[in-house]
Amino acid sequence: MCDSFEIRVMPREKTIHTQRPTIYFYDHYPGGIGLSERLFEVHDKWTWQARSLVRGCACMSGCPACVGPIEEAGLLGKQQALELLNEAGGSE
Ligand SMILES: [Zn+2]
Repeated sequence: MCDSFEIRVMPREKTIHTQRPTIYFYDHYPGGIGLSERLFEVHDKWTWQARSLVRGCACMSGCPACVGPIEEAGLLGKQQALELLNEAGGSE
């Protein structure tokens, strides 16, 4: 139970640390309050739930209910979200 503004997300095409695409999740409080740590602990669960949500949506290429407005996610938004979630791992 938290507000979506309490966790920030910062995607990067390539980081200097890994030279790979990376998505950073972090608490939006100085020093953190443990939200991102908890996300790390339940990684498999939330990637599985996100994948289920996107797959289960009846839309064709993405909508505000699954991946966001098509104006922001693009025509391949749903497909790309599933590819990203598959790369992120988590059990099926
Ligand atoms: Zn949808």
